[in-house]
Amino acid sequence: MTACVESTHRVAEIALGALKKIGLAAIPRNFELWYAHAEGRSPELSRAIQLAAGANGKVSQEAADELFKEHIQHVELSRDVIELVGRFQAEISDLFDAIEQTGENTSGHHRKLSDLSVQLRQTTEEYPAVSKLLEGVITVAQDMRVENEKLEHRLADSATEISTLQSNVESIQAEAMKDSLTGIANRSTFDKSLAQQMVEAVANNEPLSLVMADIDHFKNFNDKWGHQTGDQVLRLVAEVMDANVKGQDVLARYGGEEFAIVLPGTSLSHAHMLADRIRVAIESRRLKKRRTKEDLGAITMSMGVGAHRDGDTMETIIERADECLYAAKARGRNLVVNEEDMKEDTKEDDQNQRGSAA
Ligand code: GH3
Ligand code: MG
Ligand code: MG
Repeated sequence: MTACVESTHRVAEIALGALKKIGLAAIPRNFELWYAHAEGRSPELSRAIQLAAGANGKVSQEAADELFKEHIQHVELSRDVIELVGRFQAEISDLFDAIEQTGENTSGHHRKLSDLSVQLRQTTEEYPAVSKLLEGVITVAQDMRVENEKLEHRLADSATEISTLQSNVESIQAEAMKDSLTGIANRSTFDKSLAQQMVEAVANNEPLSLVMADIDHFKNFNDKWGHQTGDQVLRLVAEVMDANVKGQDVLARYGGEEFAIVLPGTSLSHAHMLADRIRVAIESRRLKKRRTKEDLGAITMSMGVGAHRDGDTMETIIERADECLYAAKARGRNLVVNEEDMKEDTKEDDQNQRGSAA
């Protein structure tokens, strides 16, 4: 037997002996009380036991129960209460962390906080000795809950305000990307889209085409019908072109009466076909003056189509599509010309030159 086991046995023997002497049964409650007394755990308990013993040196079971409640159970209760208060404080500090992170979480903590308050209240009802301490804690908890509810409302208000501001910013950003007259993408959006699509075309090894389009003799149209009617025609042209593009295609007003279409994943021949479809759709529109219904005649467009090549910069691909556009104008307008057509022309010129030299 170790020294420790020996000493607990000795204390137990003393306790059992004392119980016998004072006429109490060796039931667990009594034994625990007298063991604590024999061990000298609490001078207060030892004094209380001496006082409880009557003139005959005997202690009644009722007196022993009172002693147990006061000196053993009470101590255990205090431990429970201390643990409860500790948990309560931990919850509060969690609550503050949650408030800092997000307003939403606080409602969950409120529920826990209120459960704890109920638990604490029950404890105080059963054991009035600790009620003063716990009343204070409960008051503080309730004050905090009220404060937290206020804070929660403020956070909810701020969240609404932030989301309103966010959608304002988003609509301002969306507006900034558009051309104000026609509603299609503006020049700056075109520049960004082309740059981005060129990077992706290289990365994915996919084709990319560019269409540059310009209204024919638009100056004459403006001179004849006025600038405002000219503006309406620009809107109509944008509308017709827009109806013919889809998905990732970006239709933009490049400037004045010039439009551009970025066509990712599209070969030169497909881009040419699309441009020609738009050309036909525009020329087939019969224009009428809005108020007087006067016949304004037809509008036509010339277009140039370029395809992305290795080593291209934005300037070089735009330049090639522009050259095609000028060629379309030079060949009589209301026409689509692509890069390959230009090569054919050069070959024909060479052959003609060789023919005339022969
Ligand atoms: P071309 O067939 O060679 O393209 O002839 P054009 O008259 O269309 O070409 P030019 O560049 O000489 O003139 C472009 C005209 O486009 C000048 C201007 O009257 C008109 N224009 C440019 N921007 C606007 C605009 O925002 N509104 C209106 N109504 N007209 C515009
Ligand atoms: Mg022009
Ligand atoms: Mg023009």
